[in-house]
Amino acid sequence: MIYLDNAATTKVCREASEAACYAMTEVFGNPSSLHRLGIEAEKLVSFSSEIISRALGSQPSEVIFTSGATESSNLAIFGLAENYGRRKKRIVTTSIEHPSVLEPMKKLAERGFELKIVDPDENGEITEEALVSAVDGGTCLISAMLVNNETGYILPIERAFSRIKKLYPDCMTHCDCVQGFMKLPVKAKALSADAISLSGHKIHAPKGIGALWIKKGVRVAPTVFGGGQQGGIRSGTEAVPSIYAFAKAVEALMPTVSERFEHACGIRDYAVKKLSEAGAIINSKSGGSPYILSVSLPCIKSETLLHFLESKDIFVSSGSACSRGKKSGVLRAFGLSDGIIDSTVRISTSPKTSESDIEALAEGFREASKTLVKTSKIRRI
Ligand code: PLP
Repeated sequence: MIYLDNAATTKVCREASEAACYAMTEVFGNPSSLHRLGIEAEKLVSFSSEIISRALGSQPSEVIFTSGATESSNLAIFGLAENYGRRKKRIVTTSIEHPSVLEPMKKLAERGFELKIVDPDENGEITEEALVSAVDGGTCLISAMLVNNETGYILPIERAFSRIKKLYPDCMTHCDCVQGFMKLPVKAKALSADAISLSGHKIHAPKGIGALWIKKGVRVAPTVFGGGQQGGIRSGTEAVPSIYAFAKAVEALMPTVSERFEHACGIRDYAVKKLSEAGAIINSKSGGSPYILSVSLPCIKSETLLHFLESKDIFVSSGSACSRGKKSGVLRAFGLSDGIIDSTVRISTSPKTSESDIEALAEGFREASKTLVKTSKIRRI
């Protein structure tokens, strides 16, 4: 099996699965319980906050565990707007965000906020200048992603957020770092972010676990109310097995961020060469995340190509896995034509991806061009 859909989700690593099993069967207490089993479970949660915060170069008290990045971004956006948006009603985001950011921003617009959405320019870029100039003195929140999940495009968040914070210190900055965390050197301070969303299942932890990093002193209003766990910001018994597994996956990846980045660059460059030779058009810009490559095989619908490759045990995604077959608004925002969007597949690699996987993929593209294009021509006659 050749799995090239790691931006959708990843295989859980051994460290994470063993950690989850340990927390489920050995340290199964409720972290709020006062007895020994509770205290041991609480220690696993504290250890996990410590690991995630170390990866971000921050403090353990700044980490809140959630059910995933969708919840993290919803919590950040609604929670920051509630506390900082009483008088300042402008909110800013980009048109290439994941729905877990775009949808809550649109909800805020329905509730009376003035939403400014920054589009990529004619070169398909979202510049630092475009982000900074979208913010003004009446802006309470900007939310922009670090790495786009459909193309791998990297936004200039560090430079933009740092200028925004200097110009408008009261404007809250939120960054969806799902596709960058543990892949690029993501550090909370360098990002000048007030809140950062993370997801476990993109980095070899189980699904259903994520985190929201909240800068010390920043007030995020809770959206879920109950027992007051995690400082009252996210009530509910902590999902200790998933939290611990998330931390163990991060711990396993931490020493190799730059090594894996180099590997991903080599694989991406090889894929660009081999897939271009096989007739594919490369949609991703150079300089993006090496882990994600958006490509189109002209005249073959993405879904048809996806299933053709699947028949050869090669797994890719059509556009974004989250759009469930809907035409991608993000690819349109990047300026791709309908024909290209219809035939786009996303290849997303892992440290296990090899050059021979890419050769098999390129061969799959070649065969698809021969057989599928021919079939559609015959049908037309
Ligand atoms: N943000 C980005 C950029 C993503 O790629 C995804 C998942 O595809 C999410 C957020 C949502 O993450 P989760 O599945 O943890 O809710």
